[in-house]
Amino acid sequence: MAKRRLTNQQKQRIQDKRQARAEESIDASQLGDESFNGLIITSFGKRVMLEDESGEQFTSAIRQGLGKLVAGDRVIFQKVPNSNERVVTQLLPRKRELSRPGFRGQKRMIAANIDIVGIVTPVVPGIHPDMIDRYLVAVTQLGLDAVIIVNKIDLLEDEEQWNMVLELLEPYIKLGLQVIPASTESLHGLDDLQTFMQGKTSVFVGPSGAGKSSLIKALIPDLEIRIGHLSESTGLGKHTTTNSILYHLPANENEDGGIFIDSPGVRQFSPTPCTLPELEQCYPDFYPFLGQCKYNNCTHQHEPSCAIIAAVEEGDISVSRFDSFQRLLKEFAEQES
Ligand code: GDP
Ligand code: ZN
Repeated sequence: MAKRRLTNQQKQRIQDKRQARAEESIDASQLGDESFNGLIITSFGKRVMLEDESGEQFTSAIRQGLGKLVAGDRVIFQKVPNSNERVVTQLLPRKRELSRPGFRGQKRMIAANIDIVGIVTPVVPGIHPDMIDRYLVAVTQLGLDAVIIVNKIDLLEDEEQWNMVLELLEPYIKLGLQVIPASTESLHGLDDLQTFMQGKTSVFVGPSGAGKSSLIKALIPDLEIRIGHLSESTGLGKHTTTNSILYHLPANENEDGGIFIDSPGVRQFSPTPCTLPELEQCYPDFYPFLGQCKYNNCTHQHEPSCAIIAAVEEGDISVSRFDSFQRLLKEFAEQES
């Protein structure tokens, strides 16, 4: 085992050196005149796996100073004449990025140009609105859209249990969020999920054990083979990459199957501590009542004539949403002190 690891390290070092030499030798005057559009599949070391407009994939160098590229980035690349080498020369503006706070407040990019975050929540051990709200706040802070994927529905025993699930999800349905029931066991709902993901770029978040990997495998049946190809062409071990990877979903009835970005980095996907007014903006069900409290700096906890508490009492805001709001506020205050 130890011997094998050493060999891999050596291989990596040799590859790094080769890349460094290749990068040193590239200067703009050597590049061809023609520019091409590319899509980043994944980044590794100082290089990226790139896809051109015809769908062909190859590894490529990155022009110095472009910063870290991530899966989903749209770029311009050029070819180095008389070689197979390509260089990414420009990063096109990113829309709707998925990032998380890194060291010293710097954001760490995870994936770019995301349309939808699928919040995967299993019916067993149970739907936890508090967890859904945490993900929703994080999604809203990033300006992304979400869909709730209720997984493992094969474990529901009867209609009544499904109704209990629906009751927990009612606040989200009222917010206009789409709920997609699914099971990788009974395969129920996978067609709907596939149809929903068509033509979009999606990622999945959710607690460990929610069934994210199982869903991905069900949606991309040849996933292992694709990972094999990728590790072969990047020279990386199969499971060594911690960076996001972009996969095209199989096309369905001549429709673009959509893009799925698998990301180990979203495991720590959680809301960024923010102020009370900022958190209020992440709760659209609070909007109709904002500005109506007696005190304009109301924390909606103990103040008299609080419009939010009144709305909870009237049933216009759900108790679980109100509770998660207060829990997040408390958590953010504790992180600050
Ligand atoms: P992840 O941590 O979110 O990637 O979850 P996994 O995909 O690894 O799944 C966790 C466990 O749940 C595994 O034992 C799966 O076999 C199981 N599982 C996943 N999807 C389903 C499902 O739809 N129904 C049932 N009954 N089990 C599932
Ligand atoms: Zn109030």
